[in-house]
Amino acid sequence: MRTHYSIEITQGMDGKDVTLAGWVHELRDLGKLKFIVLRDREGFIQITAKKGDTDEKVLELVDSLSRESVIEVNGKVKGNDRAPGGIEISPSGIEVLSKADSPLPLDVTQKVDADMDTRLNNRFMDLRKPQVSAIFRLRSKIMRAGREFLTNENFIEITSPKIISSASEGGTDLFPISYFDREAFLAQSPQLYKQMMMATGFDRIFEITTYFRAEEHDTRRHLNEISAFDLEMAFIKDEEDVMNALEGLVLAMIREASLCEKELSILKKEVTVPESPVRRIGYDEALELLGKEGKEIPWGEDLDTASEKLLGEIMRRDGTELYFIKGYPLDMKPFYTMPRDEKYSRSFDLGYRGVEISSGGQRVHDYKLLSERLEFHKLSPDNFTFYLNAFRYGMPPHGGFGLGIDRLMMQLLGLPIREVVLFPRDRHRLTP
Ligand code: ATP
Ligand code: MG
Repeated sequence: MRTHYSIEITQGMDGKDVTLAGWVHELRDLGKLKFIVLRDREGFIQITAKKGDTDEKVLELVDSLSRESVIEVNGKVKGNDRAPGGIEISPSGIEVLSKADSPLPLDVTQKVDADMDTRLNNRFMDLRKPQVSAIFRLRSKIMRAGREFLTNENFIEITSPKIISSASEGGTDLFPISYFDREAFLAQSPQLYKQMMMATGFDRIFEITTYFRAEEHDTRRHLNEISAFDLEMAFIKDEEDVMNALEGLVLAMIREASLCEKELSILKKEVTVPESPVRRIGYDEALELLGKEGKEIPWGEDLDTASEKLLGEIMRRDGTELYFIKGYPLDMKPFYTMPRDEKYSRSFDLGYRGVEISSGGQRVHDYKLLSERLEFHKLSPDNFTFYLNAFRYGMPPHGGFGLGIDRLMMQLLGLPIREVVLFPRDRHRLTP
């Protein structure tokens, strides 16, 4: 690897000989002067070939270049006030490493807009745009920050199976697959496995995982394959302990995003870190707040998309962007949800600017109660023997959550979900 990144060039390399490699972003021919704007992972640099100064062979090669070809350039760094960034390269040699066909399927310089389908169909090229690549660099950074936060908080990272034999919770539609001579499914959540881990002595675990959901949504915020931070922790007092962990994780990720100056300036976005402690309201209080705005939701029903959005607006009026809704009615929550009393559960959702980004709660850890809750939900305990067994021989009180990374990214940057996922999977899209 002899290649420098363009950004390093600006850092005191004037007069030095360098080797750069990247894509031909733009070509300009002014007769005596020929410019290449070279793009690499860190930015752009101008290559200036000049009749008289530059070798004839190099000048000829510049004439034959096509946009988006991959080239390696040897040359000298020169200060030039008229060049973008105040610096340019005077080339002594150029080698074409890979020639790009033309016409291009997408305009990387963004002079011509493309619709989302065209962009996703040519995602490899779409990602060459700094405005698109910045999204995924920021995503990588906040994921790393999340992983670091949890590791520092003593969570152990695990990997659970994604091929499962039956539904984890009922309800959510599963994608069936053929598993030799049997039917199996893609996991819609690591729920049962995370909980079984609580019986192992690994009392704080997390996984950065994929959820497969066969729901036929066609919305701005649902996909059929998503990424999530999934966590489970034992020896909790109640769901508040789990909410504290989730709050810490989300704030660490948003804080990291707020520090991504380069990416945010490319994206022309600002990120404000929500205040800690994060506001916690009850389900009943949420219904009341919505009722005051003329939105009536029958007790026992989930907030629909419009109410979630309205609640986000109500919160924003007080400067609140991130908020918990806790104490949902017991019967609307999955069988493993810990009851608070006959009516309410120890569950919560985390809302961020009007969209749910996480759900969690304390779980039932008592074997008998868990069997009853399964039956209440008309699920057969026989299908859950492998899971139920983990509750029979010493299971500590525990709880956890699933935090959608795509949802978090989408709300953080105010973008549709398809913008923040590299190769989204939805009702219609299976390639690329
Ligand atoms: P929603 O009600 O918003 O459809 P959910 O309650 O069905 O989501 P959960 O099972 O609670 O989803 O999953 C935990 C988190 O995973 C959600 O809060 C969300 O961030 C993310 N998530 C779940 N399903 C999807 C999906 N289809 N598309 C994008 N993110 C999702
Ligand atoms: Mg949920």
